[in-house]
Amino acid sequence: MFWRIASFLACQLAGALLAWLAASPTHVKTSELEAVVLGVLAGGLLWFLLDLSRGARLMRWLRAGDFSDSVMRTGLWAEVSDRVRRLIRIRDQAASESQKRLQDFLSAFQASPNGVVLLDAQGSIEWFNHMASLHFGLDASRDMLQHIGNLVRDPGFVSYFAGRDYVGEIVMPGREHSVARPVRLSVHLHPYGQGRLLLLSRDITAVEQAEAMRRDFIANVSHEIRTPLTVLTGFVETLQSCPLEEPERERYLALMAQQAARMQTLVSDLLTLSRLEGSPPPSPSEWVGLLGLMTQLEQDARALSAVLHPAPDRRHKLHFEGLEGIEIAGNSSELFSAMSNLVGNAIRYTPPGGEVQVRARMLDDGRFEFSVSDSGPGIAPEHLPRLTERFYRVDHSRSRDTGGTGLGLAIVKHVSQRHGAALKIESTPGKGSVFAITFPAGRVRAPVRELIV
Ligand code: ADP
Repeated sequence: MFWRIASFLACQLAGALLAWLAASPTHVKTSELEAVVLGVLAGGLLWFLLDLSRGARLMRWLRAGDFSDSVMRTGLWAEVSDRVRRLIRIRDQAASESQKRLQDFLSAFQASPNGVVLLDAQGSIEWFNHMASLHFGLDASRDMLQHIGNLVRDPGFVSYFAGRDYVGEIVMPGREHSVARPVRLSVHLHPYGQGRLLLLSRDITAVEQAEAMRRDFIANVSHEIRTPLTVLTGFVETLQSCPLEEPERERYLALMAQQAARMQTLVSDLLTLSRLEGSPPPSPSEWVGLLGLMTQLEQDARALSAVLHPAPDRRHKLHFEGLEGIEIAGNSSELFSAMSNLVGNAIRYTPPGGEVQVRARMLDDGRFEFSVSDSGPGIAPEHLPRLTERFYRVDHSRSRDTGGTGLGLAIVKHVSQRHGAALKIESTPGKGSVFAITFPAGRVRAPVRELIV
C-alpha cells in the first residue's frame, strides 16, 4: 500500500513539475499556480489510467483461468493475483483430495462382493458397481439416470420399492435366473441423505441351496432311521404282547438284530461323512502301503461274499491284482473306507457266481489307478451323474436288502477329492460296472521297477 500511495504522489509531483516548467513566463501566459494544479490533476489521471490498465490485465488473467504463472510482478495488483493463485491452489488441492476420496469410496464399493446401486430422490440411478450390473443386468453406458423401476421389473421388487417401507429385505430372482440354473438375490433398500436410496443386493443362491440340501439331508436321515425303527418297534410290541414259540421268537430276534445292524451302519456312515467334512485334508507326506490295504480288502470281500451267499458254489469269483511296494500319500482309514465301499458294492450288487476284479496299477503318466469291475447288472447312463449324491439309489429295495445306506459312493467321492484323486464310473446295463479312483502322481510312491514298466 505504501508503494501505491508513493507512486500516486510521484505521478502527481511529476505532473506538477512538468506543468510548472511548461508554465514558465517565457512559454505560456497562465499563472504558475494554475499550471501546477493542472499538472497534479493530470499526474493523478495518468496514474489512475495506468492502474486501470493493470486492473484490466488482472481481470483478463482471471477470466482466462490459467493460473500457472503470476500476471504481474509488483504492486497491489500483483499481490492480489498472488493471493488469488494461492487460494485457487488450496481449493484445487481440496477438490482433488475429495475427488480422490470419492474415487476410493467408489473403488471400495466396486470391490464389494455385493451389488451396490445409488439412487437419487426420484429413484433414478446415479451409480452402480459391477456386481449390481450382473445381478440386475444394468449397463453403465445405457442405464445411468434411468429410473430403477424401469429396469428392475420383478413384481416383488416393484411393490417393495413403491411401498417405501424398507425395514426388511426381499428375495427375488436374479437376471440370469432360469429353472435349470436358479439365481436368487436378497435385495435391501436403505434410505440416506435427502431422500436418496442405497440399494444393496446379495447372491444367496448358494446359501439357499445349502439350506435346501440340509433340509433334504435331515429328511432323508429321518426317513432312513424311521424305517428300521418302525420294524423294530413292531417286533418289540409283538414279543411283548404275544406268547411265541421258541423258533418264532428267534426268527423275530434275528430280524430285529438285522434292523439294528442297519441303523448302526447308517450311523457309522453318517459319522464317517461328517468326519470327512470336518477334518483337515489328509497329509501329503504320510505314506500308506497298498499291499496292506489290498490284503484286508480281499479278506473282507471273501467274508462278505460268504455271508451273502453261504453255499460255496454261489460265491463270487474274486480276483485281486495288486502291486508290491506301492505307497499312497494320505489317510489309511479313509483310503480303506473308500476302497472297501467300492469292493462291497461290487459284491452286493453282483448276482451269485458273478465276477469281481480289483486292480491296482500304475498309469504311464505316473498316476495310480485303483479299480473295481464287476459282472453285475450295470447302471443305466441317466443314473451315473447322480450316483455320488447322498442317499441316491438306483434300486432302493436291492440297496436295502443288501444292507446299503445310500452313502457309500458319497464317501468314496469325498475321500477321493480329499486325496486329489478322481472317481470315474463306467457302466453298461446288463454287463457290469467299473469304478476307478485315479490318484495324482504326487501322491504315489512306487519302486523304480514299477515306474519303468
Ligand atoms: P448303497 O449303500 O445303496 O449301495 P452307494 O452310494 O454305495 O449306496 O451306491 C449308490 C447306488 O449306486 C446304489 O444304491 C446302487 O443302486 C448303485 N450301485 C453302486 N455300486 C454298484 C454296482 N457295483 N453295480 C450296480 N449298481 C451299483
